[in-house]
Amino acid sequence: MDKALHKRLIEAMARAVIAHAEELTELDRQIGDGDHGLNMKRGFEAVLETLPATAAKPLPEVLKGVGTTLVMKVGGASGPLYGTFFLALGKTMPDTPTAKALAEAFAAAVEAVKARGKSQAGQKTMLDVLVPVSAVLSAGGEGLGPRVRAEAFAAAESTRPMKAIRGRASFLGERSIGHLDPGARSSALMIAAVCDAIGG
Ligand code: ADP
Ligand code: MG
Repeated sequence: MDKALHKRLIEAMARAVIAHAEELTELDRQIGDGDHGLNMKRGFEAVLETLPATAAKPLPEVLKGVGTTLVMKVGGASGPLYGTFFLALGKTMPDTPTAKALAEAFAAAVEAVKARGKSQAGQKTMLDVLVPVSAVLSAGGEGLGPRVRAEAFAAAESTRPMKAIRGRASFLGERSIGHLDPGARSSALMIAAVCDAIGG
């Protein structure tokens, strides 16, 4: 991966989040406090601002930079969690990753989110997207991009019938059932944007 590509991938991710801010906020309005899109937009606008200065650095540094910015700017529950994800990704990712190294770094980042959130898949959170996507990446094989993309969207959709066990939505108990989890949706959007940017 060259440096222009790093920049393109992060830009794609940021633009996807920013473009869907209203939708993410609306999802959070239904089972949370209606700030997820706003939080994420603020964070990724800050990421875009830092990108000209950071994109020339080695990939692990770029990823850690994204993590630090998200921790500082997003706030809420999702800020520290996404921040942790990118910081852990940067810590494990080599400068020029193979598909296997990328899968391993992603898996390590997912574990870091679990530890930070004291959470796991099945609790109606971003982990319901991150965990199955990690499994697809680890299995590897041909046509990975489109398969990861499809898994991310399907996995986000799978949170709809779930009852929230973690995060603000858990306060609603049974009433959280029937709604898409905002963090699962933002994870899917970011993952799909990266898949599209790598493919196109
Ligand atoms: P807040 O809930 O503090 O307002 P956001 O609205 O920005 O924060 O983010 C909410 C999202 O964060 C949820 O939709 C969920 O996906 C994710 N989330 C919340 N708590 C956890 C947790 N403990 N583990 C994993 N993800 C979580
Ligand atoms: Mg919220």
